Order: sequence, then structure tokens, then C-alpha cells
Amino acid sequence: IQSKLPNVGTTIFTVMSQLAVEHNAVNLGQGFPDFMMSEELTDLVAKAMRDGFNQYAHMNGLPLLRERLSEKVAQLYQINIHPDTQITVTPGGTYAIYTALTTVLQPGDEVIVFEPAYDSYIPNIEVNGGVAVRIALQYPDYSIPWDEVRAKLTSKTRVIMINSPHNPTGSVLSEQDIVELRSIVTNTNILILSDEVYEHLIYDGITHQSILRHADLLERSFVCFSFGKTYHCTGWKLGYCIASPSLMAEFRKIHQFNCFTCDTPKQVALAAHITHKEAYLSLGTMLQEKRDYFRSLMANTAFKLIPSHGSYFECYSFEGLSNLADKDLAIYLTKHHGVATVPVSAFYKDSTDNQVLRFCFAKQKNTLDKAIEGLVSFK
Ligand code: PMP
Ligand code: GLN
Repeated sequence: IQSKLPNVGTTIFTVMSQLAVEHNAVNLGQGFPDFMMSEELTDLVAKAMRDGFNQYAHMNGLPLLRERLSEKVAQLYQINIHPDTQITVTPGGTYAIYTALTTVLQPGDEVIVFEPAYDSYIPNIEVNGGVAVRIALQYPDYSIPWDEVRAKLTSKTRVIMINSPHNPTGSVLSEQDIVELRSIVTNTNILILSDEVYEHLIYDGITHQSILRHADLLERSFVCFSFGKTYHCTGWKLGYCIASPSLMAEFRKIHQFNCFTCDTPKQVALAAHITHKEAYLSLGTMLQEKRDYFRSLMANTAFKLIPSHGSYFECYSFEGLSNLADKDLAIYLTKHHGVATVPVSAFYKDSTDNQVLRFCFAKQKNTLDKAIEGLVSFK
């Protein structure tokens, strides 16, 4: 067959996790927590199964879960989202992003995407017939160069993709970024795809600039979330998408003939558990402690921090320390220093190497301690 993605290999997350297993290295590469999720939530899943919630859930997601999500976002972001017409539960945030792109893209449509970009974005655009218009975030704070965005707009610009807190850099959008975004899209037919899977993983007292805070922007947006990130269960692969009723109606046409519906018992459990607000409201504090602990350990290594305020990740530069390409250094560190990371060049279509590695700090203290034992000897 003719490949639909001829230039795409295996995702870096799989590559680095496999290498970590092969070399028995501490895995600070792929983004997943190594601590336990809530026991109450796992008990609720078992209960839901025992109570007989084992058949297809509603195609758009369990109605009670959608109601609870609507209540949650009303409280967090002061917006009324209709649970029947504006929320669809999906098998993960990635699927929500893919489906949104499939919903809107016609061949040749342009999508503005900022690099480094989460590794599924550009293949998702291209497999759906779109053209990725890549714009580099400004090093070292990885902010959006809005003038360049303006300069790259054409009559074919269909979507602008944003991601805050950002993977891989941890950068977060400011209020001013939203002002810029609004000034660009108002009175155009440009849509926004906002990846907010790290909405609660934001630190240093900063407020998450959700698109959901802005009813005028939501009218032209798909906003994607992940339960995996919020409840420390990335393996559950459950998330949801919020959009205007008209965009969501089209999204559901695609969704119904793709996965159709998601895991029932987990949705039943989440609907019961989601009312515990402290579970997500405490996430920022809990993960900031981990980040700060990791930072204090990394200060004993030769790596140079590129500070940021969100996500599971911190980026470190190795400029001046090694002449290896970041991909090669990531392999070297896994093999010889027992620590797997992710090279940030994997988030650029043309593998731009800024000599930066991404470290996931959503780990137990002793995992981080063990990683540092390996990293201090790299000079
Ligand atoms: N977007 C970003 C930026 C991510 O880091 C992830 C993490 N996996 C996802 C989307 C997808 O989340 P999920 O596992 O729910 O598909
Ligand atoms: N989002 C996670 C990361 O950035 C990994 C998800 C995946 O493996 N596809 O590491």
C-alpha cells in the first residue's frame, strides 16, 4: 500500500519507554505518573462493574458524567456548557484532537501549529489532508510570536492549535496571549483547537487561561481534556471534548462511526468521583512540590533549567555539555546513566535540535532520587 504517513516512524514515547525497559533505566521519558491513583476511584470502577454497568454507554458519553462535567466547568470557568449538545466523552484527549481535525479539515486547509508540538498534532493534520503551518515558539520561554502568526495567515487558514500548559516545554499562555488570539480570529472563519489536558497542572500561582473562560472564543473552538492526566490514570485513555453545539454535532458524526462510545464502568465511577473537587484542585500544589523537589535535585547536575510553570515536564538544556544530538544523548543517558528522557527535537517535524531534553517529574520521590544518582555523573 501507499503509506499515508510516509515520513513518520514510531512515536518517541514508545521508543524511549522500550529503551528504558531494555536497559533497566529510570523512566523520566514518557509522561505518566508512577504513583497510585485514588483507591476510591478504582473501587468505584469495580463497584460499577459488579452493579452491572457493563454494556454500551450513551454514544456521547454517560449522561450523568456529562452533567457533572458541565457543573465542573461552570464553577471553574464561569461558563454554561450544555451537557447534551456540547460535551462528548472520548477515548482520551488524543482521540478528541484527532476527531476535531477530521471533523473540520478539507484537503489543503492550513493549520497553524506551534513547535515544539505534541507529537501527534502534525501527523493528525496531515493524515486528514491538512497542511501544517509550523511556527517556532520563542526560545527560551517558548512564547508565541503573534506577529509571525499574523504574517502566516492565508485564505486557507482553518485552525489554530494551542496547548497550555504546554507539552513538552511546560510553558503557559497568558491573558495577553488570549487577547492576541482573539484579535486574530475575530471576524474570520478560523477555528481554534485548544489542548487543555494539563489544565490543573499549573504552578507558581498562575491561572489557567482556558478557552472556556471566553464564550466568544468557544463558539469557534474544540477544547480537549484528559481524565488520565487529572486522575493519574493515563492507561484509562478517557477524555472529553467541549465545543459549540454546531461544531459538536459534526464532531459526533465522526465519533459515532469511529469508536462510537467509551468504557462504561469507568464513566460511572468518574461521574461519582468528580464531585470531589479537592481531587483536582489540589493537583497544582501536589505536582508543584514534585517539580520543586526535582528542580532542587537537578541543581546538582550540569543540566541547565529552562524554567516553566505547568504540565508534567521540565526541560533542561545541555548546550556546552555535549556535542551529541539530543536524540543520541537521550539514548546515551538511558544506556550509560540509567535515566530515560525525551529529546525535544522529536516535537519538531524537521527534528530541529535545540539541545534540550524533557524530563517527566510526576514520579515518586525515590524514583526522582534514583534518577539523579545517574544524572549527577554526567558532566
Ligand atoms: N495532548 C497532550 C499535550 C498530551 O501530553 C497528551 C498526553 N498523553 C495528550 C494530549 C493525550 O492524552 P490522552 O492520553 O488522554 O489521549
Ligand atoms: N503525553 C505523554 C507524553 O508526552 C505520552 C502519551 C503517549 O505515549 N502517547 O509523554
